[in-house]
Amino acid sequence: MAKSMKVLIIGAVAAGTAAAVKIRRQSEDAEVVLYEKDRYISYGTCGLPYFVSGEIESIEDLIVNTRERFEKRFNLRVNVFHEVTGIEPEKNQISVKDLKTGRQFDDSYDRLIITTGSVPIELKFDGKLIGNIFTLKTIDDAVNLKNYLDRLNEENKPGKSALLIGAGFIGLELLEIFLNRGYEINIVEKTSQILPMFDNEIIEYLEKYLMEKRINLYKEDEVSGLAEVRGNKAVSVETIKGKIIKSDVIFLAVGTKPDVKLARDSGIKIGKSGFIAVDEYMKTNFENIYAAGDCCECENRISGVKRSYNLAAIAGRQGRIAGINAAGGREKFSGSIVNSIVKVLDLAVAKVGLSSKEAAAIDNDADFIEIHRSSHAEYYPGADMIHMLIVFNKNSGRILGFQAIGRGGVDKRTDVVSTAIRGDLKIWELADLDLGYHPAYGSARDPVNMLGLVAGNLKKGEVDFLSVEELKEKIRNTEKITILDVRTKREYDQGHINGAMLIYIDDLRKNIDKLDAGREIIIYCKTDYRSYLGYKILKNLGFKNVKVLNGSYLSWMRKI
Ligand SMILES: Cc1cc2nc3c(=O)[nH]c(=O)nc-3n(C[C@H](O)[C@H](O)[C@H](O)COP(=O)(O)OP(=O)(O)OC[C@H]3O[C@@H](n4cnc5c(N)ncnc54)[C@H](O)[C@@H]3O)c2cc1C
Repeated sequence: MAKSMKVLIIGAVAAGTAAAVKIRRQSEDAEVVLYEKDRYISYGTCGLPYFVSGEIESIEDLIVNTRERFEKRFNLRVNVFHEVTGIEPEKNQISVKDLKTGRQFDDSYDRLIITTGSVPIELKFDGKLIGNIFTLKTIDDAVNLKNYLDRLNEENKPGKSALLIGAGFIGLELLEIFLNRGYEINIVEKTSQILPMFDNEIIEYLEKYLMEKRINLYKEDEVSGLAEVRGNKAVSVETIKGKIIKSDVIFLAVGTKPDVKLARDSGIKIGKSGFIAVDEYMKTNFENIYAAGDCCECENRISGVKRSYNLAAIAGRQGRIAGINAAGGREKFSGSIVNSIVKVLDLAVAKVGLSSKEAAAIDNDADFIEIHRSSHAEYYPGADMIHMLIVFNKNSGRILGFQAIGRGGVDKRTDVVSTAIRGDLKIWELADLDLGYHPAYGSARDPVNMLGLVAGNLKKGEVDFLSVEELKEKIRNTEKITILDVRTKREYDQGHINGAMLIYIDDLRKNIDKLDAGREIIIYCKTDYRSYLGYKILKNLGFKNVKVLNGSYLSWMRKI
């Protein structure tokens, strides 16, 4: 890199700071200047909900680097409270406004990196954001929300209520705060399920769990306006279905949009997705302008879809690549398989790759298996059930996606499957992975090994599945089928599928004449092992039309 090289970076959180430190590591000579319109740089956005909840006591704990420390360590300049208001690509120049003094000036660059991120979508009522409606994006947002909730607490008013408009990751992370403070909680969600990027098969567990916690869920409904306003506070809102919902505090979690106005206005190409279009070197349509993070596209390696996935790890990786290339290097960003995990109360909900809905749109041979296994050996205290769903191509074995929900061990299994996807392992190769076993941490056959074993059996024709949805359809159509429960009488008495015949697995052979071989037989147990044994017994005895209920009774119930 030439000594005179000057790199300007717009935005100084995840992608901007990653780019800056990489440039400095590439070269001691480059002049690096960051412009950030906010007061803070380089902070842990992902920890903001836990500052609001009080789990993280001081906002200082979220600040990874202060401006002074960052400048000193990396020998660069950070201008906070400075908004970049224009880019002139032909002149290699930007316009800047000092938000404290109002001074406007221009700055020139050899290379420019845009990391303007995203902003929450705000619903403004009568054109303004009412005083008890909040979003959460910046440190100031978190401090405002926390202060408001603390003041509300001091009022000592009984029967407080919180309304969540939209049920994405950030909104769900805040539930804990409202629940711990004894609020009535209402969620209004436009679509038919919360976390719409997941499969309903996984989300049903979460929705039932929230309802158990007395959280009211209004799906396929939208807030249409404010029903009652006192001062600058919305006392209640109205939905398009005509529901009036009380609200001491309203949290808007209807999603984010990329902050791309600056780029668009200066002729930088915006992709069909609405995010800044970049090539694999993170370069925009201008030779010396790069972009990284939430504001720009990232290619999903499985679906090929280009958009931002709003994940901190992707922003950091893209920032690093933009830094390398802006400093004269030539490294490619390899896309992402999009691994995300969220904490909802005491549950972890995770997804990597595609849901079965998303996979079906690109692959006619996409199939899925549902499996439930303990996070570690059941006999060791503290084991929790992990409910898993893996999506794959049934011919090639390519793993297309994985989702899981549970209390413990969800992160580990998701990351193992994520690594397997990245390494192009076939689903049945998961059976042979060497995964560490101690009763406190896993099982001799880890849940991930089980995914591979079950998929292997499916491939070899040693088992055949019917999904819960398919079974429900058959029941709705009053098809003549036999639903066979091979659990114990005690388990059956505690709950079973309506109309199911009970024959305990160990009694199946001697009761075989009770089954009509001419009918389709669908077997289930609690998880899948006993129904798999039942399947083998019936098939070996000549029954032709036998299927195992995918995920068995736990999938039928979908209860955590
Ligand atoms: C509450 C919350 C929780 C989250 N939790 C997780 C999580 O658990 N896991 C996860 O992977 N991701 C999480 N995310 C997402 C993650 O924080 C983002 O993906 C990441 O911050 C994106 O980094 P970025 O640098 O691209 O953009 P941003 O963090 O949005 O930073 C962009 C910066 O650019 C500045 N800027 C914009 N325009 C200008 C301008 N014209 N001039 C000067 N400065 C400008 C902005 O002020 C901003 O500071 C969470 C996000 C939020 C809000």
